[in-house]
Amino acid sequence: MTDPTSRPTLLVTLTGDDRPGVSRALFAALADLHPVVLDLEQTITRGRITLTALLEVPGREAAAKAIAQRTAYELGLTSVVSVGTGDNVPRRTGRATISALGRPLTGAQVAALTAAIAERGANIDRIRRLSRYPVTTLELDISGADDVDGLRHDLALAAAAHGVDVAVSPAGLARRGRRLVVMDVDSTLIRDEVIELLAQHAGREAEVAAVTERAMRGELDFAESLHARVAALAGLPDTVLGEVRDRVQLTPGARTLVRTLKRLGFTVALVSGGFIEIVQPIADDLGIAHARANRLEVRDGVLTGRVLGEVVDRAGKARALSEIARAEGLPLHRTVAIGDGANDLDMIQAAGLGIAFNAKPIVREQADASVNVPYLDAVLYLLGISRDEIEEADLLDEEGPAPL
Ligand SMILES: [Mg+2]
Repeated sequence: MTDPTSRPTLLVTLTGDDRPGVSRALFAALADLHPVVLDLEQTITRGRITLTALLEVPGREAAAKAIAQRTAYELGLTSVVSVGTGDNVPRRTGRATISALGRPLTGAQVAALTAAIAERGANIDRIRRLSRYPVTTLELDISGADDVDGLRHDLALAAAAHGVDVAVSPAGLARRGRRLVVMDVDSTLIRDEVIELLAQHAGREAEVAAVTERAMRGELDFAESLHARVAALAGLPDTVLGEVRDRVQLTPGARTLVRTLKRLGFTVALVSGGFIEIVQPIADDLGIAHARANRLEVRDGVLTGRVLGEVVDRAGKARALSEIARAEGLPLHRTVAIGDGANDLDMIQAAGLGIAFNAKPIVREQADASVNVPYLDAVLYLLGISRDEIEEADLLDEEGPAPL
């Protein structure tokens, strides 16, 4: 048996206005030559078809070429048919999937990203569009990168310079199957910072702002600043918790994200440095199984200004990610962490895919991916899920299950 990579193959490319039956016409015409189909790919862009077929027709390449050309002519399509050798097997090393999100996505951005890919010796094997609205997302499968981590670094620099969001995900099975998605709450799942809402509600903005200021200057770590800010709430009736809960606004796309992840059988968890009194009802409303946050101490219906138990801080968030992953029987490379703040950094780095969501620069720099559009459901595109798939599932749900 000859080496398959040295056998003659026929590459047929048809392009032109799409119409029903293009593949059928081509393969019906070739049927008498009994071709073996090595590959068949097709895209349709604004009504134009590009159909590519890689065939083996031992000893009858010239006849097959003539038939393919005549069929194209009859269909009003342009054809390029060439005889060569071998298959188009992509290289197995240096593989990754790159997602690029732009609003809009510009030619300059695509030029910068594809240049970074080429400079790392990688080849783009496939490109497809995952969404057009509200952001344009392209997904590129690449192979042959000499250093995927280096490529990730180069792409992050290009992305920052050109204002485009880019994610580099490992290719292969890690991208499929069930995952755990752990989300920060304040300024990630919701638009607000709950401690600020509580302070506002209590007329204690100045006290809390002063502590935030000190924390930003690096005078307090997260736990110290949490204790100091909670202390500013001492004496408030616990009814403020319910009132603030009602004022919390979900980030656009939050419901779509959670609903779609759950349809995929993924596990969703909330891990917050805020308060469980606010986080748990949000988790219940969205049907989220796991929620971790700090608990405010209440005595006789009044906040004492203290938190109970171990503080959920930067290290605590990463610990929660591992614990929930273990409880769900998922390895860390099957986890995704999403957050915006410095206290999300450990979990973002520990997760298989760490996503900085409209985050501070220090978080963006250390995450695998950065989303800077204000829609949480854009995360789905980084996981390879298309807008059409999301909307189709919503539509099917509206129509209800099919009758038995
Ligand atoms: Mg946050």
